[in-house]
Amino acid sequence: MAIHEKTLIDPDRILQHDHLVVDGVDVSGSWNTMISPRTLVDYEPDFEKIIQSYGGGENVHRCWQCGSCTNSCTMYAQNVDFNPRYWIYLIRLGLKAELMKDKDIIWQCVSCNKCTNICPKDVRPEGVMKATAHWLEENGYTPKTLSTHFDEEFTHQCLEYGRIEDTEVMMGFFKRSGQPLVQTWIINFGKNLSKHMPLGQLAKMGLNVVFRPKTKSWGRTGEVLAEYVKTQKEAAHHG
Ligand code: SF4
Ligand code: SF4
Repeated sequence: MAIHEKTLIDPDRILQHDHLVVDGVDVSGSWNTMISPRTLVDYEPDFEKIIQSYGGGENVHRCWQCGSCTNSCTMYAQNVDFNPRYWIYLIRLGLKAELMKDKDIIWQCVSCNKCTNICPKDVRPEGVMKATAHWLEENGYTPKTLSTHFDEEFTHQCLEYGRIEDTEVMMGFFKRSGQPLVQTWIINFGKNLSKHMPLGQLAKMGLNVVFRPKTKSWGRTGEVLAEYVKTQKEAAHHG
């Protein structure tokens, strides 16, 4: 079966006729789209370009569907629904709705890069998996990952203060990701820190949390940088 027909025999596309008689012949039963028009209307022409605009997705257009990536894939060996070749096919055709059916497993790519090493067309399927997962997350189709929460807090502090404060970054990260500020490992870490870190250093850390030091003359620099980051992001994914 050609790979594109997989979408046409999905359970939600199968037609069920409990009482269907044609020219006196009872043809009741389950019918797939063999008897429906095969014209695709639910595709997005720019979908491939959108995925290409995310880091790692640049070479998705090169795929010739040999299947080597899926055959070598660590995750496919665990779950046959994890199918890089099929997802790349859907991206190229703009079949976003079909891809969305697998949105909750695409992030499971373990970045082993077996697919990338074996791909004869330098598609870099591992990168395409990452680009797709990133696109899903950025558009709110999947929840934000912990690393995204961390990146957001880190970037926020750089732009706001021109520097980061380790304790502040951790607290901000916990708040953003809905984690309690007091956790057992933090208490243990704090105890060890107080044993081994010079008192002056500890006091400096505490003061920094309270007074939030800024880089000297940071002023408008942070605003300009924030505007630049925003513009670049918009240009990359919507240009
Ligand atoms: S190995 Fe490369 S060319 Fe072959 S299907 Fe996978 S991405 Fe496409
Ligand atoms: S990098 Fe991801 S997609 Fe590629 S083989 Fe490993 S698990 Fe599969």
